[in-house]
Amino acid sequence: MKGSEYLADGPPSPAGPPAAPVAPFISRRGADLRYSSYDVLVVGGGIAGLTAALGAANRWNVGLITKSTLDQTTTFLAQGGIAAAMSPHDSPELHFKDTLEAGVGLCDEEAVRVLVEEGPARIRELEELGTRFDKRDGKLILGKEGAHSRARVVHAGGDATGSVVASALADVITSGGRVELHENEFVIDLLMDGGRCVGAASLGEEGELTVSLARAVVLACGGAGQVYSRTTNPLVATGDGHAMAYRAGAVMRDMEFMQFHPTAFYGAENPTLLLTEALRGEGAYLRDDAGERFMVGSHPRAELAPRDVVVRHMRRIFDRDATDHVWLDARHLEAAFLRKRFPTVYNGLAKRGFDLCTQLIPVAPASHYFIGGVLTDTWGRTTIPGLYACGETASTGIHGANRLASNSLLEGLVFGERTVRELNRYLAVADPAVRKVKLGLADEVREGNDPAAVAEGRALVGRTMTDLCGIVRDREGLDKARETLEALQASLAAPGLNVAELELFNLLSVAEHIVAAAILREESRGVHLRSDFPERDDGHWRCHILARRDPGSGRPALETGPVESREEA
Ligand SMILES: Cc1cc2nc3c(=O)[nH]c(=O)nc-3n(C[C@H](O)[C@H](O)[C@H](O)COP(=O)(O)OP(=O)(O)OC[C@H]3O[C@@H](n4cnc5c(N)ncnc54)[C@H](O)[C@@H]3O)c2cc1C
Repeated sequence: MKGSEYLADGPPSPAGPPAAPVAPFISRRGADLRYSSYDVLVVGGGIAGLTAALGAANRWNVGLITKSTLDQTTTFLAQGGIAAAMSPHDSPELHFKDTLEAGVGLCDEEAVRVLVEEGPARIRELEELGTRFDKRDGKLILGKEGAHSRARVVHAGGDATGSVVASALADVITSGGRVELHENEFVIDLLMDGGRCVGAASLGEEGELTVSLARAVVLACGGAGQVYSRTTNPLVATGDGHAMAYRAGAVMRDMEFMQFHPTAFYGAENPTLLLTEALRGEGAYLRDDAGERFMVGSHPRAELAPRDVVVRHMRRIFDRDATDHVWLDARHLEAAFLRKRFPTVYNGLAKRGFDLCTQLIPVAPASHYFIGGVLTDTWGRTTIPGLYACGETASTGIHGANRLASNSLLEGLVFGERTVRELNRYLAVADPAVRKVKLGLADEVREGNDPAAVAEGRALVGRTMTDLCGIVRDREGLDKARETLEALQASLAAPGLNVAELELFNLLSVAEHIVAAAILREESRGVHLRSDFPERDDGHWRCHILARRDPGSGRPALETGPVESREEA
């Protein structure tokens, strides 16, 4: 037996209660290694992971691992709401058109159809589960957001949609006892057996390693906003799911596309406070230093133009006025309404010494949503048998080159549920035997790096990406970013088994992908703005960029792929 391979003591149980923790693996780490076994292992406790785990638990033995607690997710921070055609004045067809228009030619139309047609049913199920969406006279109150042609955003607790929805789902998970929940457990890597994903290795709070064998793994690890120094994303959003899928050999897609939200509070905190787009939907303005509403005349929808368009115009103002922020103005809206509809924003600003009702609020863009992800079809299947992905970790193709506001919570719901339907098919026939697994990163005891160097490394990744691969990019800056990242990588020893180091290596991996794809895409489209290629170029670039790990160099090998719907199974 080779050093990094261990023989498992037999197949994981196909169903029934979770196996009692035993230590059937022969390992150099011996007693340090714990063992679990599931039909389905879900990694991530945001909207996508909770949806997938709850659905799968109706039939299968499910484990859910999250590196923090269930209230430390991007989902929990979501403010504006969930987009779906719920009103008689709306239709899935209109939602479809708006999504495609915002996506600037790169949306996968089949995936968008699935999203808009199945979305309303998922919202109704959330209500049945106990989510209390905001209503008036028994009817859903629908918000309006950028690039939507109709008011179609359901919300809860005013601007506390994410925490209300996540709490409703988490309550069912924690009270039902159907899902084995492990919080504060960091998944390091996927376990592979002959090209098939058979589980994951994770690190517990006390430094113990657990090997979880599973007949299928669902990656729902959220995004990677922490790759940038200025972000609305929580500290957990370090692209772990992206990086571990890539290490396992999955195909990644559209990694150059990081969406920047135009209206994040202008301050130095990490994460920075978001000022939801719904504020502009309710009539708030954007003003420059001179008080001009610079979006009026710049786009027919003014402040409610698609996010990429608003960010581009903000950049124009920054260059023109030699500044780095503009102002959000809600002073003309009724104070009582603002406090009731936007309690999260109102209270968040109050803590920072600002009054939303009476003051101009300084805002600037911040990294917000990672469009790039693990390539999946509309059933959550990645290119690796046994490995599924949903939510922000996945690239379903619904966002194209620019995400339509409030489509991502919906994506987690719709594709989380479809992943369950596919798991039911797959697990009914899949071979339950898993006998030999390879432990990648988790294999050795290593010295690792000095904690100060790790913290400095993380800060350097953030600065480099913000300065050289942020909203506006050019070849010179991108080359410098690549060199800086490579030099940082070369200066580090292999990661030790601690979360900070493992996160840094994942951030580096995602940053390397973003830079490589941003160099390749020589045009400006959606959220990808190249000052040296300022025009959209459909002739050459109406395509996806796909990346896979080159087995020789270990680096991403890039190729282009057509924009089309994948065949349904
Ligand atoms: C401030 C803010 C406001 C937003 N508002 C909206 C909105 O109004 N509407 C909308 O549609 N979208 C909104 N978005 C985007 C949306 O919230 C996210 O895209 C969505 O919640 C992602 O859900 P998810 O389930 O994919 O991931 P998350 O909710 O981020 O959950 C990821 C989970 O994976 C776990 N995880 C990650 N890595 C590991 C690891 N190595 N090991 C174990 N566990 C791991 C995390 O601990 C977490 O539990 C907003 C985003 C932000 C930042």
